[in-house]
Amino acid sequence: MRLSVVVPCYNEEDGVLELHRRVTASVETLFADSYEIVLIDDGSKDRTWEMIQGLSQSDPHVVAVKLSRNHGHQLALTSGLSVVRGELVFVIDADLQDPPELLGAMHEMMLKEGADVVYGQRRSRAGESAFKKQTAGLFYRLLSRMTSVDIPLDTGDFRLMTKRIADEIARMPEHDRFIRGLVAWLGFKQVAFQYDRDARFAGTTKYPFRKMLSFAVDALVSFSILPLRLATYTGAVLVFVMGLIGLYAIFGWILHGTAPGWTSLTLLIVFVSAVQFMVLGLIGEYVGRIYIQSKQRPLFMIAEISKSAGTSN
Ligand code: UDP
Ligand code: MG
Repeated sequence: MRLSVVVPCYNEEDGVLELHRRVTASVETLFADSYEIVLIDDGSKDRTWEMIQGLSQSDPHVVAVKLSRNHGHQLALTSGLSVVRGELVFVIDADLQDPPELLGAMHEMMLKEGADVVYGQRRSRAGESAFKKQTAGLFYRLLSRMTSVDIPLDTGDFRLMTKRIADEIARMPEHDRFIRGLVAWLGFKQVAFQYDRDARFAGTTKYPFRKMLSFAVDALVSFSILPLRLATYTGAVLVFVMGLIGLYAIFGWILHGTAPGWTSLTLLIVFVSAVQFMVLGLIGEYVGRIYIQSKQRPLFMIAEISKSAGTSN
């Protein structure tokens, strides 16, 4: 098996037949008969499952997977990655926003560059609101400032990758998944493929604002402990401000003879508040480390090992 195409589908009954037609046309010319199309029904409420089950009966290349309920895009995708058999894995959305016809060019790029991942980078996005484009653009830029992982800008899950990458992603046990970040985290050779994103073929977006926001939070929180550090930073700023307030209280007492008790009370409040923030920040540092540990990401990725044939153990 040379290629597996993975497609998460949620309420996509109007699009899956066209998706199957276009993916098949694109894949056949490149990989002849040696491919599979894994369609995952993410607990759809419409007839998506009936449609993809039907496809799996009529086309031996189709593998239909039904999740027990709606698990969300990233988990649906992960479940697909966990069952693929191809040497290469091509991830695409069901709505045909990412043209399957680009597979040939992406594959060529992979061979030419010797890449492990060729990710689609959106040059433009058709059929999406100015609001979505603005917030998405802002989000990717904020994310790249907040994390030490080099997560590419304007990049979704549309990508061609080796089986090794797909396996490593499927194996990672973390719950709130931001797969495009996890792929970047893995390293290896990854190259960008610029393309123009089309409008949806049918149906409406399955990412309403609420889901988009929670996805953004997942991404920021799973790739940065910066929010936890805010307490430390706030503490540091407050220590400085409170130092000034403390000086003001003391000089007020010396120069103007303020009301009895005011100076000592002010100093006490200032001192205790500063200490509280510092301690919160300290706890944040530990919580952050426990959190990172709890995600159980691998410690490192060995790409390859080279040694001479004569080396004994
Ligand atoms: N999707 C999914 N489960 C969900 C939401 C979405 O499997 O809970 C699928 C959806 O069918 C599509 C892909 O994830 O194939 C991306 O969703 P969508 O196109 O609605 O997102 P957008 O392109 O609008 O950001
Ligand atoms: Mg879409």
